[in-house]
Amino acid sequence: MGTYSLPDLPYDYSALAPAITPEILELHHSKHHAAYVKGANDTLEQIAEARDKDAVTPTGLVGLEKTFAFNLSGHVLHSIFWQNLSADGGDRPEGALADAVDEHLGGFEAFKKQLTVATSSVQGSGWGVLAWEPLGGRLIVEQVYDHHGNVGQGATPLLVFDAWEHAYYLQYKNVRPDYVSRLWDLVNWTDVSARFAAASAG
Ligand code: MN
Repeated sequence: MGTYSLPDLPYDYSALAPAITPEILELHHSKHHAAYVKGANDTLEQIAEARDKDAVTPTGLVGLEKTFAFNLSGHVLHSIFWQNLSADGGDRPEGALADAVDEHLGGFEAFKKQLTVATSSVQGSGWGVLAWEPLGGRLIVEQVYDHHGNVGQGATPLLVFDAWEHAYYLQYKNVRPDYVSRLWDLVNWTDVSARFAAASAG
């Protein structure tokens, strides 16, 4: 029992088939996501221990902070990812989110292409992310490395596409663009729109 816990999926492991096989979804949630939750809790505990013993050292803390950022960000992004997907998803956003996509990202088709390229072209492991950037008051697309690199501080992720090989390799092998293409058919725009409304309201 730590600070962070693995959330249940909002659907069962077979719900997103055939776009995502039950085998992938179960491994992804019960092994990979669970490992980030454990990693975040364990690292937080180690940092607290070092603090309690007055044993915080530069060499020790650098590693712990990096490990904590990796695992916490992995937990955050996966928690959003599951909610972003639905067997009844697809199509495109409506209302205020659609208007913001038009205003900030050149319209839905241009945005779709940008997020597709951002996700498909991550070098190594990472994510493509649609985020709300509060300082500029606008939507942005980010290409995230691992779970926590290449990120503008303070932006709130709204729609996240996992580009790690564990998300697709058992099914799509090396053809990441095919997997990304199928993700669009699963996007739960109701969830993304609710995140947009909350984030843009401050
Ligand atoms: Mn993942």
